[in-house]
Amino acid sequence: MKAARIIKPKEPLTIENVPTPKPKSTQVLVRVQSTGVCHSDLHLWEGGYAGPAGIFMKVEDRGVKFPLIPGHEVAGSVEGFGEDVEGFSPDEKVLVYPWIGEGLCPACRVGEENLCDKPRSLGIYRDGGYAEYVLVPHYKYLVKIEDQNTDNFASLSCSGLTAFSAIKNAGAKPEESLVIVGAGGLGLMAVQIAKTLTNSAITVIDLDDKRLEEAKKLGADHVINSTSTDPVKEIKDLTDGMGADAVVDFVNASKTVATDISMLRKRGRLVLVGLFGGSVELNLALMPLRAFRIIGSYTGKYTDLVELVALAKKGVLKSVVSRRFKLDEANDALNQLKEGKIIGRAVISPS
Ligand SMILES: [Zn+2]
Ligand SMILES: [Zn+2]
Repeated sequence: MKAARIIKPKEPLTIENVPTPKPKSTQVLVRVQSTGVCHSDLHLWEGGYAGPAGIFMKVEDRGVKFPLIPGHEVAGSVEGFGEDVEGFSPDEKVLVYPWIGEGLCPACRVGEENLCDKPRSLGIYRDGGYAEYVLVPHYKYLVKIEDQNTDNFASLSCSGLTAFSAIKNAGAKPEESLVIVGAGGLGLMAVQIAKTLTNSAITVIDLDDKRLEEAKKLGADHVINSTSTDPVKEIKDLTDGMGADAVVDFVNASKTVATDISMLRKRGRLVLVGLFGGSVELNLALMPLRAFRIIGSYTGKYTDLVELVALAKKGVLKSVVSRRFKLDEANDALNQLKEGKIIGRAVISPS
């Protein structure tokens, strides 16, 4: 099969022929129709993340091995399966849950494989969907999507699921004020999910008026451009001086998080999602005095993906796919994402 592989970080991906995996026992071979091109793919390609004080956190230190076929947002159809697979038939359309764990740690035992102590995620720790076929280790990681569009559904398993789980972790209740920081692909998805799941007043903060306009169209009650106004003052004005009940930060950089903390009300929740990175200084006495909580949120569990797919089937989420690339164009896709030229989501379509 044809595949795009990262041989070494920072070097162009090679497009080459590799053996097509043969599914055994519980495994399913999925013919890839759409793979979302994600910022996490860029981090893999660059070999790591920004840590505090200019430290670079290498993905190889966290168990990633190269060469690797990236791609964790995979939708396609069932090509073949092992003798122990039940309930699936050839050509059935499926979305792959990529946040696979080793199955035995405390998180895996309660169905939160996305938080596994020894993650085996697809497209990160094992070969993913920048290929004609992908081997899924167990049929329990598949979600049936019937006749839905694979381009639109692919990124539900990552950006969609991350936004869904982050909004749930924010625990925003009706009448509460919910702030979403960053109106990129994740933030815009979160606006739609928050609109459907909560009855909170939603405010979106970003640097770009066009994105903010889009956020408003998708259901944000208020938008704030933080280049022209002071977001802390604006949020205080909108909440009778109290501050936001919940802030979900899809950027998660030193500057945004310092602002998030200042706009949080007593007992508020701050959910950190983005992987921009950096560090912040905490006023420690204020933590107990104001009893706010800082919560890290990473992707989501399988059952959340099932819920999200059901929501998407009802048509309440607008597709954010704006570009389609062939497998041969994997390097172009990643470069354009890196240069900020992709609005919403790009997908690679190998077949
Ligand atoms: Zn992703
Ligand atoms: Zn585990």
